[in-house]
Amino acid sequence: MITRSLVMTVLLCVAAQAAQASQDIPDQYPGSVLYSKPVEAIPHVWSAIGATSPPTYENGGHNNNLSFVVTGDGVVVVNGGASFQLAKALHEEIRKITGQPVKLVINENGQGHAMLGNSYWKTQGVPIVAQEDAAKAFADEGPQSLQHHKNVLKERAEGTELVGPTETFTDKKEIEMGNFKIEVLNLGPAHSPGDVAVWLPKQKIVISGDMAFHERIPPIFAETNTKKWLESWENFEALGAVYVIPGHGHPTNMDQVRRYTKDYVAYLRGKIAEHIEKGGTLEDAYYVDQSPYAHMDTFEELATRNAGRVYEQMEFE
Ligand SMILES: [Zn+2]
Repeated sequence: MITRSLVMTVLLCVAAQAAQASQDIPDQYPGSVLYSKPVEAIPHVWSAIGATSPPTYENGGHNNNLSFVVTGDGVVVVNGGASFQLAKALHEEIRKITGQPVKLVINENGQGHAMLGNSYWKTQGVPIVAQEDAAKAFADEGPQSLQHHKNVLKERAEGTELVGPTETFTDKKEIEMGNFKIEVLNLGPAHSPGDVAVWLPKQKIVISGDMAFHERIPPIFAETNTKKWLESWENFEALGAVYVIPGHGHPTNMDQVRRYTKDYVAYLRGKIAEHIEKGGTLEDAYYVDQSPYAHMDTFEELATRNAGRVYEQMEFE
């Protein structure tokens, strides 16, 4: 009996650690400011997977995925990254993989970790594209984001400046480069203004940005409209993706991101709806049961805050 319970305890500990791995390893690539070394998800499509934790000095602010497509006639990078130095480190990795030049950078939204590294790509003369609402969000909130990153990253923030996209679009931008057709799509309101999904229809892989999460709990910001996120999700499903490189966490598939993004948002909205129905207050809304998602990274940081935000939105729906 003692042995069996000991074995169980050990197994449970291992399971708990596995769920937390991305949070608990401060840096997976000590030789680089990148959190981890790029991996090839499918042929010619690579991603340096960021930590699924908040930005820290140790992870260099690399807490989202920095992806790139080696098209055969140039490289397309998805995300500027959180700093000048991160973007530079990613470029060094790209150079180890191919002699093709970087010809375009796409920003997944207007958040600091999507756009602050644009300052590096500008020095390389690379055009940078983003959806117009993302450009506007960065113009408004970029200064605050830069200050926050400077506080966290200290000397690792050196060289980082506010550089927005050089080009914007509204719904869709199509790129033909080398052997790849690349569609940059705004699929409707989701996690933050100007979210884009980068869709490779021939390969059926989507670099989803923050439309889709599966290891980290989806963050709900004041500007996140959860009702519309669920509607936009239908457009995302309609792509028919086989492979997903999410905004955060390892490459995966639609079943996983559906379960941990769409189902999570719908679950939380359901819990808050019940709470409002019963006449519950905002103070108590923070503590609605989210235990089915407690194993996800950033649960501690985000779960109660998410509940409060959903309550504030649903109160007026
Ligand atoms: Zn993100």
